[in-house]
Amino acid sequence: MEKTAKKIQMVDLKSQYEKIKLEVDMAIQNVLNTTAFINGPEVKSFQAELEEYLKVKHVIPCANGTDALQIAMMAIGLKPGDEVITADFTYVATAEVIALLGLKPVLVDVLENTFDIDVTAIEKAITSKTKAIVPVHLFGQCANMEAIMEVAKKHNLFVIEDTAQAIGADYFFEDGRKQKAGTIGTIGCTSFFPSKNLGCYGDGGAMFTNDDELAAKIRMIANHGQSVQYVHDSIGVNSRLDSIQAAVLRIKLRDLDNYAKARNRAATFYDIAFGNNSKLKTPARAIYSNHVFHQYTLQLNGIDRNAFRDFLSKKDIPAMIYYPIPLHLQKAYLDARYTAGDFPITEKLCASVVSLPMHTELDDETLKYITSSILEFCNK
Ligand SMILES: *Cc1c(COP(=O)(O)O)cnc(C)c1O
Repeated sequence: MEKTAKKIQMVDLKSQYEKIKLEVDMAIQNVLNTTAFINGPEVKSFQAELEEYLKVKHVIPCANGTDALQIAMMAIGLKPGDEVITADFTYVATAEVIALLGLKPVLVDVLENTFDIDVTAIEKAITSKTKAIVPVHLFGQCANMEAIMEVAKKHNLFVIEDTAQAIGADYFFEDGRKQKAGTIGTIGCTSFFPSKNLGCYGDGGAMFTNDDELAAKIRMIANHGQSVQYVHDSIGVNSRLDSIQAAVLRIKLRDLDNYAKARNRAATFYDIAFGNNSKLKTPARAIYSNHVFHQYTLQLNGIDRNAFRDFLSKKDIPAMIYYPIPLHLQKAYLDARYTAGDFPITEKLCASVVSLPMHTELDDETLKYITSSILEFCNK
């Protein structure tokens, strides 16, 4: 097949911007005109609109997703030495903030089909020092929250949801209720990094909670630990979402469900093309969540991943590895408790996954070119 006219990217933010350019440019100009750059009305409006969308009592914006995780862990009052359980197969930010606060990251393996944290493994990892669980809604679908909340309740643990990759996803309870990702645990944390499903044009993040007291505490910590100006009740941080980013996010929030639809359309196209190929394992859908496809991640079976990526690269098709090294084998997180072979699923995934271009602007022509190129490689 012929190459497509437009350069294929993992994420095409420019084409997406062009569709909302008029609105975005006006909104940014409006912030410039008012010079209310910090804590302006755009931030308050965005916060209220996101609360409404997520059906959660409190959204507290902050500077980025990593800060959101850190502030959440500070807000629940964890002490150095407390253990926090999270997935070995995730972006480093999750474990980073645990370690930065002097807490002890306790890693557990994930499930091969859905990439979700393994709830049985969580239960086995609980000790008398365990204080919190941080499930990661990886690649755009929820972890098994109902089972995780049950374990948390039984052992009196906090649950901090890392929903940086799954904003807008629905979690389905067994009784038929549904709730948005990040609104089920004690606190939900998200990122508005440009390439995330709800991305701004710089850095941004937010925390969600239904607990009034916790919300006040989170607000205080994010603002230098002050509840009244120049009165500092606790040690805090400086973490704010700026008004220009909030103005952009307000516009993109209105399109978030349509963005998820466009991503699902591309995912279905990939699923159909690769469904019968024994060398390509398509991503499984969890029964308890819908998928907003932050990433579309294949598992390669009997294929040399480097050769696969080189072949695609020559056809100007990017493909990325999220994530190439399990946390327990990262130099910064090496720990006498862990060794190679301890988390076999994560280790297998790190060696076999590859994520394909996934964004809101993939048309059929591009998808045909990508899928036929991949099948051409598999049939060689
Ligand atoms: C992006 C991401 C973060 C961090 O968000 P930033 O805004 O980049 O700090 C945390 N966790 C996961 C799973 C992420 O994908």
